[in-house]
Amino acid sequence: MSTTVQQVLDKKGSGTHAVPPTATVMEGLELMATHDIGAVLVKDGERLVGIFTERDYARKVAIKGLSSKDATIGELMTPNVCTITPSHTIDDVMSIMTQNRFRHLPVVDHGKITGIITIGDVVKSVIAEHEATIQQLSSYIAGDIAT
Ligand code: AMP
Repeated sequence: MSTTVQQVLDKKGSGTHAVPPTATVMEGLELMATHDIGAVLVKDGERLVGIFTERDYARKVAIKGLSSKDATIGELMTPNVCTITPSHTIDDVMSIMTQNRFRHLPVVDHGKITGIITIGDVVKSVIAEHEATIQQLSSYIAGDIAT
């Protein structure tokens, strides 16, 4: 997959959704529900300090019986967020996600967050590349038969 992260962001857009570490888990979940997303970035001002996903909610809040209204995102987020750059390829993204067993990768360009790539974006990109290959082969075969 030679498609780059930048090419995916060009189609998808560069929006990301973030909360401060002081936000409650409930506020994070509401943001996820409003935007139909599975993760929020955690930012202290402009600084990326963590990520909180639905999996964190399931494992660190629901199973442990914590209150979403009291627990803060800062207490439960994953710090040390792994990020990628716009020039990474979707192949790179697949390997980073597989090795680390997570499904969200914020994109950072010269210190600025310019988007987020999810496992869903990876799947869409793989399907689009396969469709393009099939299209090329079909045109080639049709051309061959016509000549
Ligand atoms: P996910 O599969 O993305 O829901 O995440 C699984 C676990 O990995 C959760 O504990 C997340 O907080 C964490 N996680 C997700 N994305 C990242 C990332 N880019 N860097 C570090 N940890 C992450």
